[in-house]
Amino acid sequence: MDIKVVKFGGSSLANAKQFEKVAAIIKAEESRKYVVASAPGKRFSDDIKVTDMFYKCFELAVAKKSIDETFANIIDRYNEIISDLNIDFSLDEEFEKIKMAVLHRASRDYVASRGEYLNSMILAAYIGYDFVDAENCIFFDEKGMLDIEKTNKVLSETLIQHSRAVIPGFYGCNEDGTIKTFSRGGSDITGSIVARAIQADIYENWTDVSGMLMADPRIVENPKVISTITYNELRELAYMGATVMHEDAIFPVKISNIPINIRNTNAPEDAGTMIVPSTDMLGANVITGIAGKKGFSIINIEKDMMNSEIGFGRRVLEVLENHKVCFEHLPSSIDTMSVVIGTCELRSTKYEMVAEIAKVVDADRVTVEDGIALIAVVGRGMVKAKGTASRVFEAIANNGINIKMIDQGSSERNIIVGVEENDYAGALRAIYNEFVK
Ligand code: ASP
Repeated sequence: MDIKVVKFGGSSLANAKQFEKVAAIIKAEESRKYVVASAPGKRFSDDIKVTDMFYKCFELAVAKKSIDETFANIIDRYNEIISDLNIDFSLDEEFEKIKMAVLHRASRDYVASRGEYLNSMILAAYIGYDFVDAENCIFFDEKGMLDIEKTNKVLSETLIQHSRAVIPGFYGCNEDGTIKTFSRGGSDITGSIVARAIQADIYENWTDVSGMLMADPRIVENPKVISTITYNELRELAYMGATVMHEDAIFPVKISNIPINIRNTNAPEDAGTMIVPSTDMLGANVITGIAGKKGFSIINIEKDMMNSEIGFGRRVLEVLENHKVCFEHLPSSIDTMSVVIGTCELRSTKYEMVAEIAKVVDADRVTVEDGIALIAVVGRGMVKAKGTASRVFEAIANNGINIKMIDQGSSERNIIVGVEENDYAGALRAIYNEFVK
């Protein structure tokens, strides 16, 4: 029989009504045996996530201020869920223990992790699943990195003893036995780790949107949902700012080729987005998605006959390396080389670096252009479709927008264009309309 790991995000477990939806989803399929839960998220737009309330408690305690009010608000959030669910269950002892720990200088990660810990206990009691604490089966090494093999071994040995279980997301245990959390949104990673440990057939990640959108809905009106996307395409889009889940959540399931299905707790009938290792299946459109970011700078280096000078590129990149600056793209032509860099990377060393580059390569001219936006057009379908690049450029040009930079990866899975920040939204819409509308 299929085994599914289902992870529910904070908005899916923000109050009793959401818990009821979650329970109905779990009960709807026998295969949904392992559940990973987040802490209660926002119930309405200016609500506060319980994780943020815990962080606040920690900061108050460090500042030797009273945590009473904030801690009472946390207790209220959980107790409201418990009483609205009408279950015979109490977290009073846990509240007492945690409050004592906060007052006695428990670590920031321990305090933050209690959001998931308590919520998972409620969920386990409500749906009648075992509670398996992540503290005993997710491990970090001495460098604070996930110890993926030890975790996989202990977690699979543990879960095999439970036919159904709820595991709190977001945290595990350091080598010294203290609690460590992943970065924010890290319950997605826990879900992925659990899916690998149990060799699940699918990892369902339940959130509050019906999948990943083809473009940013703040820029494109009603963008379509991506029905299938590969891990690699997702990485490319995520890198450019399009996210539905924590970036690092891909890696554990990737090792075992387990697909991820992004689903909507508030619209369980929607199919959502399937994230798969690879597929020959092409979507209705040549492209899978478009994403972009503002805040880039281009350093343009000009020198006649640059193309015949051995070591030119190395000397330029050495300057960046010495300043510990990462670059994004490196488009070049015969007599010019451009380096695209995040403006914030550049800020403090900009003039120094430009002068050094000019010196080491004896350039004719080095200029810096700020205010650049990059747009990534991503899709496995582009490998086979001829003329995709020209369609992208024409769509942008037809909207009267000037392209500053072009870069196409040799994978042919993505085309990157750089435009002025003022043209960002227009260019993105133009590409979407050309390929999708
Ligand atoms: N509760 C944590 C956060 O707010 C982790 C998560 O929800 O995935 O970041």
